Amino acid sequence: MIFRQMFDSVSGTYSYLLARRRGGEALIIDPVLEKVERYIQLLNELDLRLVKAIDTHLHADHVTGLGELRDRTQCVTVMGKETNADVVSIRVADGDTVEADGVRLGAIYTPGHTDDSYCFTFEDRVFTGDTLLIRGTGRTDFQNGDARAQYNSLFNRLLKLTDATLVYPAHDYKGDTVSTIGEEKAFNPRLQVGSVDDYVAIMRSLNLPDLKMMDVAVPANMSVGLSQDEIARSGWSLEPAELASALRGGGIVLVDLREQIERDRYGEIPGSLHIAYGALANNLRAGSSLRSATRGKDLVFYCAYGERSAMAVRSAHDAGISTARHLHGGFDRWTKDRASVAP
Ligand code: FE
Repeated sequence: MIFRQMFDSVSGTYSYLLARRRGGEALIIDPVLEKVERYIQLLNELDLRLVKAIDTHLHADHVTGLGELRDRTQCVTVMGKETNADVVSIRVADGDTVEADGVRLGAIYTPGHTDDSYCFTFEDRVFTGDTLLIRGTGRTDFQNGDARAQYNSLFNRLLKLTDATLVYPAHDYKGDTVSTIGEEKAFNPRLQVGSVDDYVAIMRSLNLPDLKMMDVAVPANMSVGLSQDEIARSGWSLEPAELASALRGGGIVLVDLREQIERDRYGEIPGSLHIAYGALANNLRAGSSLRSATRGKDLVFYCAYGERSAMAVRSAHDAGISTARHLHGGFDRWTKDRASVAP
């Protein structure tokens, strides 16, 4: 396994790079914008292909590297479904898995620090975001934070993991790098409470200063989405109503780029083929079955919110498929639009 803990000294943030092997696919958790160059260098040095960039929650203390990494590597962005970030390509729910080749993370919804906080388990470890820190817990006094919810996330979710589970937090300000669930149970001062009310009282009494970066970071992190306007201006996008009439007319090949878990959860547009975004490059090669299927037909991609499909349109045009377009706003917009026109 390839595992790297990377530190941003300005915000005290830890970011994590995970992959099964050199030459394989990689995931990154909580990347920091200013460190993107370093991540890309490391990915190149280790011969890794970044396929997913994940934020554990909408950060208030640094600007996320999600948007920049997506633009530089065409990776997929991932956050929890509760997030207020504008366009995140995959939105996970409690119990979902986030996968790359040979790496499988489990999502645990752990609200409290924010209402969009998730932790991610991976084999012998858990990435705890700002829910559980080493000898501390994330503050709950802004971004819909809720000490009562955090108590539940800690005591009824994270502390139920085995004592030996390694704890990798999103921050540390003292130089600690890793702990375990057992160690935190025993020595984390915030966890030595008898009841949820005691925990709420501790969190209320903290009187923390405002975050310096908050006014910059929160708005920036809410708009990491890929701008789909440029693609629309190129005439490469379809509005939901245009797609509906194109489907009635025939003559198009519609491709769903989402993962199976998203199709199972949210449904699909009838008549679409399924090619997950990660498998697209192979399907765009000359001689592929997709290329034969689209001969004489228009190719239309869609995904959840239009981010993966917008990247796919660019790749398809680069590969010489000049009819490729995508559904602007994705399946989310399609569903809302269909609901508004339905009788
Ligand atoms: Fe945070």
